[in-house]
Amino acid sequence: VILHEKSGELGGQWLAASAGEDKAAFRTITAGLVRRMEKAGVDIRLNSAPDKNAILSEKPDVVILATGAHPRDLSGVDILPSPEQNGIARLFGIDVLRGARVPGRKAVVVGGRYIGMECAVRLAEQGYETSLVEMNEIGRGVILRIRGIMFRRMMEAGVRLFPSSSVFRLTRHQVEIAHGGSVFPIDADAVILAIGTVPDKSLQEHDFGVPTHVIGDCRRIGDARDAVAQGTELGLLL
Ligand SMILES: Cc1cc2nc3c(=O)[nH]c(=O)nc-3n(C[C@H](O)[C@H](O)[C@H](O)COP(=O)(O)OP(=O)(O)OC[C@H]3O[C@@H](n4cnc5c(N)ncnc54)[C@H](O)[C@@H]3O)c2cc1C
Repeated sequence: VILHEKSGELGGQWLAASAGEDKAAFRTITAGLVRRMEKAGVDIRLNSAPDKNAILSEKPDVVILATGAHPRDLSGVDILPSPEQNGIARLFGIDVLRGARVPGRKAVVVGGRYIGMECAVRLAEQGYETSLVEMNEIGRGVILRIRGIMFRRMMEAGVRLFPSSSVFRLTRHQVEIAHGGSVFPIDADAVILAIGTVPDKSLQEHDFGVPTHVIGDCRRIGDARDAVAQGTELGLLL
């Protein structure tokens, strides 16, 4: 078995899910899987993103695509001027959780589910003046116990909450949000996007000429349990 990973580290989105002092137990899952792969003799190739020809040159009997998902970007929103012209910095929540530096001292987090709430708490605790904007209810669909914990942490850290509000426009120093038919500005140096993920289907357009299976978030956005269960079932089947 050959495993190609385009980054320099195994773990995918779980690296962000398990980042932070309180998530040490999460990290044992990746470490355990890596140990089992090494023991089983899996040929692990980091910094490797083969194209169709490179994959076919290995003469595989089966191809398994598990390319995951990438963060969703803002769409349908005016961004004036662009970040390259010193507009508001734009970062993805997943990168912030992994330690990316957020410039300035005023942060607006867009998206109020797991990643957005976690980013908002961390940034507020680090001293950023932090606002969280969510187009629906904050914490919608989040496990109730976790929602309660995150809500308390956001209140204690002084996060300003803007539910039922959507981003309308980014200007040089403000995020304009629409709420109840009116537009309101929030001062911002950086916008942190946590508005979901999009399946990475980049390799799925190819016909490899051998049985090809698609598992995990690149098939359908789910969670780590779905991805691991699909991998386990397929491994047993093959
Ligand atoms: C902050 C955060 C918190 C989360 N918390 C939880 C949680 O508490 N519980 C839970 O169950 N789930 C959670 N999830 C979701 C879970 O992490 C994902 O559902 C899961 O990681 C999906 O696994 P995957 O293997 O399908 O994809 P990914 O984890 O996205 O991994 C795909 C991998 O493929 C690599 N890749 C992509 N394209 C190529 C290519 N062309 N060539 C080679 N390699 C490539 C990528 O670099 C990546 O390492 C969380 C996610 C995030 C971001």
